[in-house]
This record gives sequence, C-alpha cells and structure tokens, in this order.
Amino acid sequence: MDSKKKGLNTICTHEGQLEDKQHRGAVSPLYMGTSYAFEDVDVKRYPRYFNTPNQVGLAKKIAALEHAEAALIFGSGMAAISTALMAFLKAGDHIVLQNMLYGGTYNLVTEEFEKFGISYSFTDGLAASDFESKIQENTKVIYIETPSNPLLTITDIGAISQIAKKHGLVSMIDNTFASPVNQNPIDFSIDVVIHSATKYMGGHSDICAGAVASTQEHMERIFGLAKNLGGSLSDYTVWLLERSIKTMGIRVRAQNVNAQHMAEYLESNGDIEAVYYPGLKNHPDYELAKSQMKGFGGMLSFELKEGLDASQFQKNLKLIKSSMSLAGIESTVLSPTQTSHALLSAEERKKQGIKDGLIRFSVGIEEPEDLIADIEQALKVVGNLQLQ
Ligand SMILES: *Cc1c(COP(=O)(O)O)cnc(C)c1O
Repeated sequence: MDSKKKGLNTICTHEGQLEDKQHRGAVSPLYMGTSYAFEDVDVKRYPRYFNTPNQVGLAKKIAALEHAEAALIFGSGMAAISTALMAFLKAGDHIVLQNMLYGGTYNLVTEEFEKFGISYSFTDGLAASDFESKIQENTKVIYIETPSNPLLTITDIGAISQIAKKHGLVSMIDNTFASPVNQNPIDFSIDVVIHSATKYMGGHSDICAGAVASTQEHMERIFGLAKNLGGSLSDYTVWLLERSIKTMGIRVRAQNVNAQHMAEYLESNGDIEAVYYPGLKNHPDYELAKSQMKGFGGMLSFELKEGLDASQFQKNLKLIKSSMSLAGIESTVLSPTQTSHALLSAEERKKQGIKDGLIRFSVGIEEPEDLIADIEQALKVVGNLQLQ
C-alpha cells in the first residue's frame, strides 16, 4: 500500500495488519513465539531482532503514519530515544539539544553522556540561530522537541532540518506531544522521528512503548545498535499497541477540539493568570505552529492568579485526576515543579519560565462542560481558602 495516498484513519486502521489465514478473523493474530524456523539464511526471526510478525506489522503502520521508509518499536520511549541517539554518537562527538526537553531525555544526556565521552550543548533559546551558534566541528546530531513540555513552546522544524543539512548533521525530533496525527516532521526534512508510544499512540494509559521512524539507511544503523542493547517490545504489547493506534486518529482529533475549547475557556476565566496553548492566537508562535502542525494537540498548561493555591486546586479536582503521565483518553493534571521538573534547580526552572503554580493539563475526550464544571468547583474551594 502506498501510504502517502491513504488518509490518516485508513492507515491507522489497516496498514501493517496481519492476515488471519487460518480463521479469517478481523484482527491481526498475535504470535507470541520466540522461536521460528529459518525461512532462509537472511531471515532469523527473534523478538530481540525486532522482526517477529507482529513487530514487523506494527512497524509498517508507524512508518506509514510518519511518512517514513521504515520504523522500529521499542520497550519504552526512553529506549527509543537512547538507542537513536547512541546510534549516531561515539566518543569525541558533540550534540546540540534544545533547552526545553522531556525530563528523562535531559537526565539521559546530563547523567550518562560524559562517561561515553560525548559532549553536549543546550541552546539558550529556540530560534534557529540559537541552534546554529552551538554547533562545533565535532557536532553530529541536532535534537529538538516541539511542542515542548510543559510550556508548549514551538520550534521551527523546517529551519532546524535546514541547519542540520547545511552542517552535515543528523536531525532528530521527539514528536510525542504532537503525535503523528498533528505533525509529520519528515515532511519538513527531519531525519529521525521518535515517539514515546506510551502517550498518544497508546492513548489509554496502559502501554509503555516507544518508536523510531526514518529512512531505511538510518533505521539499519539504529537497528544495528538496537539488537545489541536489547530494547525491543514484547509481542503482546505490540499487539495491544496496534489495536490502540487504530483509534488514534479519532482520539487525538477529539483531544485537539477539547484542548482548544478548554484553552479558550481558561483564558476567559478571571482566576487564571496565563494559558499556554499553541492553538491560542496570542501564543507567541501561533503562526509557526499553524504552519507545521495539522492540529494543535491535547496538551496545554496554565497558571492560577496570584494567591490561589495550585496544589490545593489540583487536590480538589474530582473528575480530572493528578497523574504523572499524559495523553490518555481521560483528562489529567500535573504540577511540573513537583514532578516532571522536580530534579531541576529552582534557578533552572525559573530560567525555563516554569513557575511553581504552573499546572500541565492533558485534555482527554470527556465532554468539555463536565471538565469546566470540575475546574469551577475546585476554583471555588481554593477561592474560599484564600478568603480565610
Ligand atoms: C513520556 C515521554 C518520553 C519518555 O517515554 P517513556 O515511554 O516514558 O520512556 C519522551 N518524550 C516525551 C515528550 C514524553 O512525554
């Protein structure tokens, strides 16, 4: 199937599906085998070689979703990120990374790279010049994440891929927050696209997985390291993830609509100091987001007005739960200062613009009226606390 000619939901539903020849069932059969007869000398199927029937089928679907030639599925987003990075970096090399990054990626770089002799620079800002100014003679990779966590900043994907091409670097993006529904970086000439499939691809808060998509040539290099590191995903979870992705298009599009609705509501609410959502016209990068995204996504963040207690607010929400993760069909909130960015110093958080009262909101598929009612009753409680 030429995936470029097929629409999103058709790819989600059909691409890479395995045929049940034995019983003609409607879904992919699940092959849990770890042992297969040699089909020929080149094909030795084994789960850690990323080539069981279910792994290969799902990889095709993810490659098609990202307009890539090939993909691999990993046991977590961090397995995908670490394998992709290390496949292109060796002792003596240097990498340029954007300053706003997922906490786990930041930890990987700052806690592990030095012992492998890999040096790194974080940008000061997100402009193309901020990236270019950090490039050194030994730079090999440039790494971005857009929209970013937790302030939903936008990085210019096309500008970064051009800089990478100009300097002969491999460009990589963490595309988790957008999902392939809202953003396809390969269309903007990015080399390697990475996902935590734990988030929108899984979408039901019950799968931990990751994925990398790129050209055949790059994926062969990544596979070369992946089989040695051993970060493949078990076939049962592969099968569950395939099922989850079938509804990814409709889920994420519903979350786009709900997040826009909630962002506009929060912006109009007098108890809210600031709302960060790329779909709001006053977001500093609204036009850029519009030019590179098909939808603005289901993630936003906001701050309560001075004097309103953000942690009491979260405790008093009833429908919307506090949760470490994101991107499920259920709405959740999190305080970056207390969780995802707790390891950063107060100084570092301030530099990144993350205030203590910031609340990250992963908008689900519930009816927006019910989400609003929940927020209003919680605001009322914290308003009364302020008066006491
Ligand atoms: C969750 C997340 C990751 C890490 O994924 P895991 O599946 O938890 O390993 C990486 N990047 C982003 C943007 C994430 O949200």
